Amino acid sequence: MSTALDIPFTLHPPSAVPDMAWTNSFATLGTDFFTELKPQPLPSPYWVGRNRALARELGLQDEWLESAETLAALTGNQLLPGTRPLASVYSGHQFGVWAGQLGDGRAILLGEMQTRKGPQEIQLKGAGKTPYSRMGDGRAVLRSSIREFLCSETMHGLGIPTTRALCVTGSDAPVRREEIETASVVTRTAPSFIRFGHFEHFSHRNQHVQLKTLADYVIDRFYPECREAKQPYAAFLQAVSERTAHMMAAWQAVGFCHGVMNTDNMSILGLTIDYGPFQFLDAFDPGHICNHSDEQGRYAYNRQPNMAYWNLFCLGQALLPLIDNQEDALAALESYKTVFPEALQARMRAKLGLPDAQEEDQALIESTFRLLAANKVDYTIFWRRLCGFTAQSGHEPVRDLFFDLESFNAWALQYSERIAPVDIAQRADLMLKSNPKYVLRNHLGEEAIQAAKLKDFSQVDTLLTLLQAPFDEHPGHDGFAGFPPDWASSIAISCSS
Ligand code: AMP
Ligand code: MG
Repeated sequence: MSTALDIPFTLHPPSAVPDMAWTNSFATLGTDFFTELKPQPLPSPYWVGRNRALARELGLQDEWLESAETLAALTGNQLLPGTRPLASVYSGHQFGVWAGQLGDGRAILLGEMQTRKGPQEIQLKGAGKTPYSRMGDGRAVLRSSIREFLCSETMHGLGIPTTRALCVTGSDAPVRREEIETASVVTRTAPSFIRFGHFEHFSHRNQHVQLKTLADYVIDRFYPECREAKQPYAAFLQAVSERTAHMMAAWQAVGFCHGVMNTDNMSILGLTIDYGPFQFLDAFDPGHICNHSDEQGRYAYNRQPNMAYWNLFCLGQALLPLIDNQEDALAALESYKTVFPEALQARMRAKLGLPDAQEEDQALIESTFRLLAANKVDYTIFWRRLCGFTAQSGHEPVRDLFFDLESFNAWALQYSERIAPVDIAQRADLMLKSNPKYVLRNHLGEEAIQAAKLKDFSQVDTLLTLLQAPFDEHPGHDGFAGFPPDWASSIAISCSS
């Protein structure tokens, strides 16, 4: 159902919004890459969540996120002077099948702001239909917008590469999903929102000039070191493979399931992007499927690393017209197979509190995963409790998480021997920085969403504060770090967002 409401655009420059220096380098690529269009307004918008820390990082004044003009502009009701809004076109493989043309069906790129961190693109997700909306209504609902807002900031807080979210605004305009919900817009930022699917789009259409234009644009802006290589486009593929490998290692280590790892949801910068039916693991289950629409379990937790490789293979295929020799493309992809396991091992060693690598570490990591799976142990709580694991503590808080005590004792002996030579304070310090106390569990998001539906946005704010510093203790907030309630496992998260 379309919720496009017939509200005329306000084209007066908003007075209280300071002049911002906007550019839009993506717009210089040419009209084969996008359609220029205006966001579609929503009636009577209100603030749902504001990320003041990110606003400051972007060099925005605190007042900017307070003004009615900003609220209107970031809901798509008013154009920010100097912006040149557009929706980009891409294609992709969805659930392993070529899906043809997709594109920004509900995201509108306003342009780039010059910031201390370099140019940052600003995108409004849920700002109305575009030529790429297909059967969709161009809208995002409050529920999924809150999830994206909080999860992108959780990932950032965890040190995992991600797009960011500046704010969420809402409107009471109805939007039909499984039931009637209300409309919302997430303002998100990233150096670039280009996906693997952008490359697949031009390659599949044999538009090799545009393919090269796009690759040159991304290399020049984000992978300049590849220019020096003998085969710049193969070097580019290798660099993307390596960034993706690091991202995947980070996801696996923290127990993050993305849920829809289609090639159109894979960032060319190795950022976590397009938060939909994602989930942080509660009890450790390697085969966990977070997306209820993923009937085959293609994107189950333990399949994610292989799926990322599959997606990189699609990217490699798309880039082949620019790479003289197929062997060079295959060699570039190979790097994933070494970088991913090394990166994962490094992260798991840090979680175990092992500053130096030893030969037996991989076996210890594997036996830890096996033990957690066999006992269905809560993933986040296990690691956080393990930070206090000492001979003196009697291992009790950790042991309490297991029902098979014999296996636990055998593992605890193996672990105790490994950590014996490691300085206790050094180990605790490393572990407390590697094992978050807070992650955005489904039930926490759900509680904040239910309150937000009743116009109480305080939990969104509280969660944002906790999740932006997930390794800190935050006294008084232990309830947000506890076991999930029984009803958590019945929360059904699908692609419908
Ligand atoms: P996703 O897997 O959610 O990232 O979306 C896949 C494709 O569907 C992308 O091209 C999206 O822009 C598009 N899409 C998803 N939801 C909507 C919607 N409500 N309206 C228009 N396009 C949508
Ligand atoms: Mg997407």
